[in-house]
Amino acid sequence: MINEYKDVSLRALNTLGIEVRCERLVEFSDAGDLPKIFMRPEIAGGRWAVLGGGSNILFTGDFCGTLLRPVGHAIDIVADDGTEATVRAEAGAVWDDFVAWTVERGLWGAENLSHIPGTVGAAPVQNIGAYGVEAKDIIHSVEMYDAVTGKMVTLPGGHCDFGYRDSVFKRLLKGRVVITAVFFTLGRAARPQLDYGDLRAYVEELGGATLANIRTAVVAIRRSKLPEPSETGNAGSFFKNPTVSAATVEGLLAAYPDMPVYPAADDGFRKLAAGWLIDRCGWKGRSLGRAGVHARQALVLVNLGGATGGEILTLAGQIAADVRAKFGVELEPEVNVW
Ligand code: FAD
Ligand code: NAP
Repeated sequence: MINEYKDVSLRALNTLGIEVRCERLVEFSDAGDLPKIFMRPEIAGGRWAVLGGGSNILFTGDFCGTLLRPVGHAIDIVADDGTEATVRAEAGAVWDDFVAWTVERGLWGAENLSHIPGTVGAAPVQNIGAYGVEAKDIIHSVEMYDAVTGKMVTLPGGHCDFGYRDSVFKRLLKGRVVITAVFFTLGRAARPQLDYGDLRAYVEELGGATLANIRTAVVAIRRSKLPEPSETGNAGSFFKNPTVSAATVEGLLAAYPDMPVYPAADDGFRKLAAGWLIDRCGWKGRSLGRAGVHARQALVLVNLGGATGGEILTLAGQIAADVRAKFGVELEPEVNVW
């Protein structure tokens, strides 16, 4: 099935709720539709991009070109040896529906990633992560259409160059592939990962580390701290947590001994909490016109009503400038700015 719409409002298709328009929106349910779609010169020869749930995009203007939207949402077990199951989920499946599906079937691995907005197809793009787990921990492989060769390819997870909120899809394959499905490896034996903040205490209060309790706890903690996009427009963390050298951290800790510091993937580097840096610059709960900083998590920028992408970007720029001036640390947007 292919549905095509022209001159469409994207307001309901981005969680920041920015009012912009798109020249052409093409929804497709089947990966087999893509060669036909890319045969059209006005699509292949123009600007095109893939839109999932729009929960990690800041639109700064109308999109002149074609947005492709996968809407196939089937989820199936394709292999199961009694210990591990391989699950194939189509790109258009809602990520949290996929997590709920795994929890209902007693499959371990995705539960800490409950309640993250967006689609399955976008999960490998920034290697979504929360509560000590990243998508890469469970991704077996990624199925995609390569618009350059016109072929379907399945890339093993080990070749996706996954990093902290990063992958090959944000770099080498950016603007070249459409992810059509993701294969996950999930376990049948319990493997709770609770060493993050209050999660263990919360789960114990619910009666112990079952899949259902972990999901309930993650959802409850997230709801208590993060704005729901259906109520307040936002795109989650606007900036990545910066990784800086151990020497930089030492200098900063001398001036700010209470600054949180976490390990980073690379030796000699540490991760800082961008939200803490922004808070210390006095931005938490403040606003600039119709763009604001969430009162409970300074890393989340919010649309206070009718904000343009430019207004959100101006606020982000001022925040980044203040963090640079006070701490000498560069903040990089996590959100895709279009
Ligand atoms: P979109 O925003 O539509 O797209 C994001 C990027 O992926 C774009 O570059 C797009 O072109 C590309 N893309 C999307 N689908 C495909 C595809 N099928 N093929 C190729 N490219 C594609 N993120 C986290 O990591 N952890 C969190 O805990 C988290 N919490 C959040 C909480 C809130 C309230 C919000 C609003 C966001 C949060 N996010 C979080 C960010 C966001 O949910 C994720 O990045 C999510 O994966 C984006 O999915 P999406 O379908 O909305 O992608
Ligand atoms: P939080 O628990 O208040 O923690 C603040 C920051 O400190 C987080 O960004 C987190 O980094 C880091 N941190 C805290 N404890 C850590 C630990 N034990 N080990 C390593 N890093 C630690 O953050 P929150 O805003 O409520 O979010 C909770 C989780 O959901 C986090 O994992 C966060 O990434 C995720 N989340 C992501 C988005 C997004 O859009 N990307 C939005 C909302 C929530 P990490 O971010 O690296 O975990």
